[in-house]
Amino acid sequence: MNELIKKAIAPLCAALLATACARPAQVPETERPASAEAVTDETDVDVVTDAPNEVEPLSDEDRARALAARADALEAKHGDDGFTFVVEPPFIVGGDESAATVRRRSRGTVGWAIQMLKESYFERDPDDVIVVWLFKDKTSYRRHCQEFWNETPRTPYGYYSPRDRVLVMNIASGDGTLVHEIVHPFMEANFEACPAWFNEGLASLYEQCTEEDGRIYGLTNWRLAGLKKQIKDGTLPSFAELTSLSDAAFYRQPDGYGQARCLCFDLQEQGLLRDYYRRFVADHEQDPTGYASLRAILGEPDMADWEVGWRRRTMARRFTE
Ligand SMILES: [Zn+2]
Repeated sequence: MNELIKKAIAPLCAALLATACARPAQVPETERPASAEAVTDETDVDVVTDAPNEVEPLSDEDRARALAARADALEAKHGDDGFTFVVEPPFIVGGDESAATVRRRSRGTVGWAIQMLKESYFERDPDDVIVVWLFKDKTSYRRHCQEFWNETPRTPYGYYSPRDRVLVMNIASGDGTLVHEIVHPFMEANFEACPAWFNEGLASLYEQCTEEDGRIYGLTNWRLAGLKKQIKDGTLPSFAELTSLSDAAFYRQPDGYGQARCLCFDLQEQGLLRDYYRRFVADHEQDPTGYASLRAILGEPDMADWEVGWRRRTMARRFTE
């Protein structure tokens, strides 16, 4: 990509990622944010004003040293305020729950998700140290976002900020959002040109997930209900339309996350999701939307026919909280 264009859109990408990424694993309908995370107009862009830092990739030794030094520095600065920091390569996990709980989340959720995602998709670690901040409740989350990054979060659950190199979570909202957010820095490091529809579709798939045969496996979640309604109402765009949306237009879609998630889910059920990711990465210069790769991985079907079957399968899926 032309460097000038890249620089110009970097703050926009940062704003999109920082604002559009957070949904909990399970949220009752009435508590769901309307479209609070969606970027609805250009004024939202001014929240993040700097491009993400460009950094040289770290060697394993340099990374281990950088992580240990950073964790020590964070402990020295915030330890007295009740924070615990744990190195969970390539991240540092910090939180103000009990030390035992921070360690459990670090190993059990963050470490597990990193291992699973790397085994299935991602070869490269993010190039810089990223700190995963787990704030114990809404009050702590909002107060520290303001204090540490001068940021007023527009999602109550959490977000990823490439600018500040942090994943920030109100961990009281559940671990599902955390796994969602972990996908983003890995996608950034491995598939920088990934369009929002697939970045958010894959991240959303793992908001509700488990391990099957040693691999991460996405389950149905609360997004299914909204998606079914759109299918019933006949208002869902085709996959040709969905995949051709600009990132900003995708974030304005009422059920873009749900539709992209359920495409990923369907590919997963057919054993095609990992192959699709690899094909899309390999072919993205000729196929930046991923639509040709999708058709290819499905065996070049008549897509109108295929989508009738996809909608039928989606309507038959169930999710009970
Ligand atoms: Zn996201």
